[in-house]
Amino acid sequence: MQKNDIVKTVIEDIGVNGEGIGKVDGYTLFIKDAVIGDVVEAKLMKAKKNYGYARLMKILEPSKDRVEPKCRFARKCGGCQIQEMSYERQLEFKENKVRGNLERIGGFTPELLSRVTEPIIGMENPFYYRNKAQFPFGVDKEGNTVTGFYAGRTHDIIANTDCSLGVEVNQKILEIILDFMKEFQIPAYQETTGNGLIRHVLIRYGFTTKEIMVCLVINGKTVPHAESLVEKLKVLEGMTSITFSSNQKNTNVIMGDSYQILWGQGYITDYIGGIKYQISPLSFYQVNPIQTEKLYSLALEYADLKGNETVWDLYCGIGTISLFLAQKAKQVYGVEIIPQAIEDAKQNAAINDIKNAEFYVGKAEEVLPSYYEKYAKEHPGEKAHADVIVVDPPRKGCEESLLQTMTEMEPEKIVYVSCDSATLARDLKYLCEHGYEIKKVRTVDQFPMTVHVESIVLLSKLKSDKHIDVEL
Ligand code: SAH
Repeated sequence: MQKNDIVKTVIEDIGVNGEGIGKVDGYTLFIKDAVIGDVVEAKLMKAKKNYGYARLMKILEPSKDRVEPKCRFARKCGGCQIQEMSYERQLEFKENKVRGNLERIGGFTPELLSRVTEPIIGMENPFYYRNKAQFPFGVDKEGNTVTGFYAGRTHDIIANTDCSLGVEVNQKILEIILDFMKEFQIPAYQETTGNGLIRHVLIRYGFTTKEIMVCLVINGKTVPHAESLVEKLKVLEGMTSITFSSNQKNTNVIMGDSYQILWGQGYITDYIGGIKYQISPLSFYQVNPIQTEKLYSLALEYADLKGNETVWDLYCGIGTISLFLAQKAKQVYGVEIIPQAIEDAKQNAAINDIKNAEFYVGKAEEVLPSYYEKYAKEHPGEKAHADVIVVDPPRKGCEESLLQTMTEMEPEKIVYVSCDSATLARDLKYLCEHGYEIKKVRTVDQFPMTVHVESIVLLSKLKSDKHIDVEL
């Protein structure tokens, strides 16, 4: 096989990035935008010894799972990867991905997995689910100011104000900002030169409260003619917060370090499962509130709290899971590495009048072990106790030192929320080799049309005689 070869193949599998996988005489081809079941013609773009990357040229026979994408930029845009796959098939893909990793990396048997796996939770309407959007501004080849989305793996902006994952009002806001920039000849920032003012706009929408936040990210200290922009934006129903954030660094980080209010207040309010959150332009907040509520309700169901429990929520972010669980537990401790997120968590506890949640800044793999050791020193003959430990780590999963302390604390239950099923499988293997067994596995689709997969696992402590068996 050589570069530029044109081949015909049947798509038999889906890769981790949502690409179609086909074979030609034993040679594996990864073909972006091809759907499992398609018969396609493709052009080899990059040939390695045993596999290559090919471009989809023609769909010879469409798969029964192929659908017309809602967005006409679905292929070019880096935001969605599998919009051309029917939603049912997307859900099957995600479920299989988790199961495959648990088998291959975790070493769990298909029998066990069939017994513990509950059906994936999808969305009734898998579009318009994001409560947050960050649109870059730039200049196209003709010199026009544009906003939209980055094309996959580049910083080329595809002009598109109508993203089918975001809320409708995004489009109105973007048109207002584009008109404003045109009227006052305010230039968009250009990464290549470092010139220009408007870099990004962050838009947030409270699904429950219908409150809207707009934050302009600028390469400067002030927004010229800001009053005119405010006049146009504030009339939109639900507008609550208009701010700007100054970011004059040559960086891929979108937001600056702080923000200033142009109109209204510096935050919007929203609810997940009855808990109220104040969300500023710099706060982390789950982007799909509908599915988040389902996921955290499952965490609560799996924890099965009766009111007397001590719970640790590691990697707690702004305390979303902690506050959910605090409603049913005696005491919750949250641990998170980002100080600002912990500030938000404390504030969220206060505005909800939740008094049994305490938060610590630090690395989970440092805070929990040092708490455990300190407790043992201060209480000879005893050890720190937890009834339930919840973890929700970033993609790289948990450090082994943390997993070790967790198993030493011997909680009855561990609830593992994961955004990467490969590291989840690795960590579950460790936990199951150290006194725990898997009781439930469930995948929740937080990000329809993308390949991201979120799952939740309930583990429970093996009876102590079994535990000894394992250790011997
Ligand atoms: N449960 C949270 C979000 C979890 S996302 C919520 O529902 O909002 C993972 C979080 O882990 C992020 O907030 C990230 O800042 C934090 N984090 C990353 N590494 C960490 C570490 N070593 N120790 C503690 N927190 C960490």
